[in-house]
Amino acid sequence: MPELPDIVVYIEALEKRILGQTIERTRVVSPFLLRTVEPPLSSAEGKTVVQLRRMGKRICIGLENDVWLVLHLMIAGRLHWRARGAKVSRPRGLAAFDFPNGTLLWTEAGSKKRASLHVVNGEDELRALDPGGLEVLETDLDRFGAILTSANHTLKRALTDPRLFSGIGNAYSDEILFEARLSPLALTQKLTPPEVARLFAAVRSTLTNWLQRLRSETGEGFPEKVTAFREGMAVHGRYKQPCPRCNGKVQRIRYASNETNYCPNCQTGGKLLADRALSRLLREDWPKTPEELELLVQNPKRIPDKTGND
Ligand SMILES: [Zn+2]
Repeated sequence: MPELPDIVVYIEALEKRILGQTIERTRVVSPFLLRTVEPPLSSAEGKTVVQLRRMGKRICIGLENDVWLVLHLMIAGRLHWRARGAKVSRPRGLAAFDFPNGTLLWTEAGSKKRASLHVVNGEDELRALDPGGLEVLETDLDRFGAILTSANHTLKRALTDPRLFSGIGNAYSDEILFEARLSPLALTQKLTPPEVARLFAAVRSTLTNWLQRLRSETGEGFPEKVTAFREGMAVHGRYKQPCPRCNGKVQRIRYASNETNYCPNCQTGGKLLADRALSRLLREDWPKTPEELELLVQNPKRIPDKTGND
């Protein structure tokens, strides 16, 4: 799932292309994509993009008259910048937004169509879609620690809960925990103050470093190589490969469709976290799928949902 660094780079590339441009036409070909009825998507046509904003892992395109398009790519959704009028080919193609200078194409690989588009009016409706997680690059250690320890969760769960922290998912949480030398299964309320400080520093350095890296890879182009498995990641997606710090083998914990990677030498005092022994803890603390976790919302008051499955 595109996380904070990926989403920021998408937004920066979009700002260069669509800020100040007018949406000429919207084309939605996937029946599952649009989750709102009012205002209609057609109300976006003829309106100019006045701002772009990240909200958790969502991309918000702000139009004139306070109309917002809220794009959630979920795991397999991707954006592309194409020549104006580019075809939207199913099954991958979900939608296209045509501008005078090009077309923003939205695709989603795989048969599970999870990506969502909400069209909302004004800040209040926009906020109703916000899971409410803390912006980790705009906060301090005290606030971070308070949110982290507000409930007793495993670190992996706490970091990836969008109601607690904004923009962190499965991939970068693995990298953050490696950087902090902490076990994904350590419990938040058992951490010592120095461990909390180490985690906070790792959150900031990991996200900042990856953001810089993705920015320089993207340059003036459009981010077309967005993936959860990046060359240069230390542990995420690197099961059985050597740890870049100690050369030991990277291990994994699997639960339902989740996989977490970690280095035993660097993070768990050499201890292998066996799946079976942990099953109770995992069952209680870990959602079955990243999608399930991602859709947790702070605010129970939701705007009407056309499909009923958001
Ligand atoms: Zn290691």
